[in-house]
Amino acid sequence: MTTPLLERLKAQISVSGPITVAEYMAACLGDRAHGYYTTAEPFGVKGDFITAPEVSQMFGELIGAFLVTAFQDLGDPQSVGLVELGPGRGTLMADILRMARLRPALINAAELHLVETSPRLREVQKNTLKKAPLMPTFHDRLAGVPDGPVLIVANEFFDALPIHQFVKTQDGWHERVIGLDDAGELAFGVGTARLDEKDVPKTARNAAPGTILETQPAANAICEEIGARLSAHGGVALFIDYGYLRSAPGDTLQAVHGHAYDPVLARPGAADLTAHVNFEALAHAAKRAGAVAFAPLTQGDFLLKLGLLERAGVLGSGKSPAVQDDIRAAVERLAGPERMGELFKMFAISSHRTPISPFDRLWHPDQ
Ligand code: SAH
Repeated sequence: MTTPLLERLKAQISVSGPITVAEYMAACLGDRAHGYYTTAEPFGVKGDFITAPEVSQMFGELIGAFLVTAFQDLGDPQSVGLVELGPGRGTLMADILRMARLRPALINAAELHLVETSPRLREVQKNTLKKAPLMPTFHDRLAGVPDGPVLIVANEFFDALPIHQFVKTQDGWHERVIGLDDAGELAFGVGTARLDEKDVPKTARNAAPGTILETQPAANAICEEIGARLSAHGGVALFIDYGYLRSAPGDTLQAVHGHAYDPVLARPGAADLTAHVNFEALAHAAKRAGAVAFAPLTQGDFLLKLGLLERAGVLGSGKSPAVQDDIRAAVERLAGPERMGELFKMFAISSHRTPISPFDRLWHPDQ
């Protein structure tokens, strides 16, 4: 099994030497000619994985309800940017807007901005939103969104941004790289670049040789940029992703193909590649920029507190037993602890110190 990107990476590495895990991830996901999001159809039963908005409309509707509360808490501003990072098929935003219609002041004030790098997915998003009350403006990066108060949402976005990995050796933490083995196939190796000791979290100080530690400078930089926007102009950002709340060592890089795990180096550009998100690092980045962080909730907690069961009851009432079974299965999948309910976290940052329901307190990790 080979892919066009695999051949290109092998040729490139044989000429210029090993690449970092971050370079590999960026190429696999974003390469203009052969990247996964540029070329593949990731979502749904026929794709490689199913995200929460694709499980049920209830997910986006409850996030819509959260954003309506956030808008009110900002004092119903005259204009607000409604921004989504990495909107996939556009399903989440369509469901958010259906709920937001209940608050005409929000629809009247809002401009819709979608940050999406894949031209192919932009077309899908446009199509999903063609009956929506707002028309999207597309951007390659957040910097293209005009200044002003914002409500930002991102589901499974940070997990797709490139991470670096470091390997503990006798001689400190060295960057993990991807080179070629004797047979000319991609293989992990240990490079010369080192991680500064001050960037090694306490939990990794006594790690055994061979332990892997990840850093996410791309995700942190975007979170810091968002934090700066919020503290300058007001607003709230809600991030949903799988990840961990305390910086700790561990290899979380994973590839998924056809709804099953796949070796990370097996088919670059043809499998999805993600890493778990370090929420503690995101919180620090937001705070550096002057925003506040709310203590994260699990996805299950967040949805149940916002009325998932009540919403399911309303949706199912008067429907056939088969439809009601589907709704029950969706509730279990979104909120069940063995399913998405525990692993996925809801994390919000804000310009205002008062937590927005269902968040109930500020978060000061490592203090
Ligand atoms: N939020 C969607 C899709 C998640 S997949 C859902 O929940 O279904 C990740 C999304 O982020 C895709 O739309 C992908 O094209 C986009 N993406 C990945 N890297 C990006 C980047 N650096 N900038 C903008 N969008 C990016």
